Amino acid sequence: MIRRRELLLGWMLADQARRVPGSILVHEHILVDFIGADQIRPGRYDPDEVFRIARPKLEELRPFGCRRLLECTPQFLGRDPRLLARLADATGIEIWTNTGIYGAARHRYVPAFAREETAEQLARRWIEEVRRGVEGVRPRFIKTGVSGAPLDEIDKKLIRAAGLTSLETGLTIASHTDGGGPAALEQLDLLGTLGVAPGKFVWVHAQNEKDHAWHERLARSGAWVEFDGIRERSLDWHLTCVRRMAAAGLLDKVLVSQDAGWYHVGEPGGGTFRSYSYIYTHFVPALPDDWATRLLVANPRQAFGE
Ligand SMILES: [Zn+2]
Repeated sequence: MIRRRELLLGWMLADQARRVPGSILVHEHILVDFIGADQIRPGRYDPDEVFRIARPKLEELRPFGCRRLLECTPQFLGRDPRLLARLADATGIEIWTNTGIYGAARHRYVPAFAREETAEQLARRWIEEVRRGVEGVRPRFIKTGVSGAPLDEIDKKLIRAAGLTSLETGLTIASHTDGGGPAALEQLDLLGTLGVAPGKFVWVHAQNEKDHAWHERLARSGAWVEFDGIRERSLDWHLTCVRRMAAAGLLDKVLVSQDAGWYHVGEPGGGTFRSYSYIYTHFVPALPDDWATRLLVANPRQAFGE
């Protein structure tokens, strides 16, 4: 009986699910290790086990037309370019990795050297990563993060370093932003003083800002507004955010993703791995047809490159 119900459910989902050829998920994770920058080290997990667990989750995406996934785990939080490259080869889904350091969570993921070095020194490290690659993989975007507004000195330095890296490499900056609209605006202004174009900044976790006026303000300023974390319990809110932006004529500055996955280092079997398919089975089918292409194909390419 349970099996019949599962089959029926699967059939219903498949029926309403939307295929979006060439689609790109701009904010997902394969693996995260929350141990902290002072304790993280190689060997805390078995890459073969992670490979076995993550592979079918990525394979699930193929029938929906997914072409690429941006893996948003920064260095010192479990970035593992070699593992990502293996998974990309095995599944045919492109997986992009990143450079940069994440200041959010009160600098728990900022290593000692990054507290001492200047923004210019940090930028030099990241530019080198982009030029030479990391474990044979070239980072394709910059991932950083801040703890809130007003930005503290370390967060300001990380954003400045991200800006310098962007100017040199052309890469786009995705910033995990705690502190909502005010923290997003402060970053955008800081980047502006360096001469970084607003379209090189992605306000990550914009869904946590409950005042739509902030979403519109940042989008009008030219920044990308990313509503990620799409899942069952937040579906209505995410749809509301996107519809409000469309009504304001700002759909061309919106990114959507799920912040889903991932193998949780330190938990047996990696803990609960949230599927990447929900956006195709529930979110996209609730929107007009042409919006799916805009949000999952055109905007991601414009924000992060081809
Ligand atoms: Zn994330």
